[in-house]
Amino acid sequence: MQEVSQQVYPLSTLYVVATPIGNTGDITLRALNVLSIADAIACEDTRNTAHLLGRYGLSKELIAAHEHNEREAAEKLVSRLQAGQRIALVSDAGTPAVSDPGARIVDAVRAAGLRVMPLPGASAAVTALSAGGLLHERFYFVGFLPAKAKQREQSLQELLGVTATLVFYEAPHRIAETAAALAKVLGPDRQVVFARELTKLFEEIHRCPLQDASAWVTANANREKGEYVLLVEGAAGASSADDAETDRILSVLLAELPVKQAAALAAQISGKKKNALYERALQLKQDA
Ligand code: SAM
Repeated sequence: MQEVSQQVYPLSTLYVVATPIGNTGDITLRALNVLSIADAIACEDTRNTAHLLGRYGLSKELIAAHEHNEREAAEKLVSRLQAGQRIALVSDAGTPAVSDPGARIVDAVRAAGLRVMPLPGASAAVTALSAGGLLHERFYFVGFLPAKAKQREQSLQELLGVTATLVFYEAPHRIAETAAALAKVLGPDRQVVFARELTKLFEEIHRCPLQDASAWVTANANREKGEYVLLVEGAAGASSADDAETDRILSVLLAELPVKQAAALAAQISGKKKNALYERALQLKQDA
């Protein structure tokens, strides 16, 4: 698209470029333009990125910048940026620096007083949230849980009181253990969304109560393959700020409407459960 190539792409700038999480069609026009005009591309795995670029008919100098050499790579990139180059930074999939290398490089480039320009695009967490259908407005990004059972349960214990939707990344070989641990620590009733192989051929998005999570994973051997985002409904008790806002909405509605109608409207406004709001409305009316 001509409009994109005519935009300004300053020199001496690090371009943080999101790439697809599976479907190569999910790349932005701006990303393609930057990848084609960059002097070099810093990437997690040069083979993966060379392959991805090939899908778009591009070929470029690649600089390895993974978790084991991020500091040294950052120094090298800063001096190339100081020399006036444009460098793109990508990870193997999705948005760099989100459960991926990149943050150290961005930090070093900023510390050197150079410009960092983000090019937004796919991220597995946001993609899962967009199709998960959990109604809570807030989410809490956890990323990967610890691999060892004891530490994993400890991390989950710390999340018990979080009322926002919890967002986890998980590797396929640990999905069964993690599903069991989630039910064990967070209880049987919360809804979980398994978002598997998003944007790919065998994409699967399944929602069920945590008590049925393990059975869903083991029902089909393919479910222990592929990439996963897990969303788990937040704790039932809302935060105090949230409670206060719900009470305010209910009070306004109760001044004009019967309890049942006020609760139904408040449920639509807040996305919370009608029954719980009905109980709360009765209580507020009684207190008044
Ligand atoms: N930077 C990436 C992002 O913006 O989402 C995340 C990279 S992290 C190393 C990789 C993890 O993201 C996978 O283990 C999986 O949990 C999740 N993930 C990546 N692609 C996915 C996909 N297509 N479907 C489901 N989960 C995916």
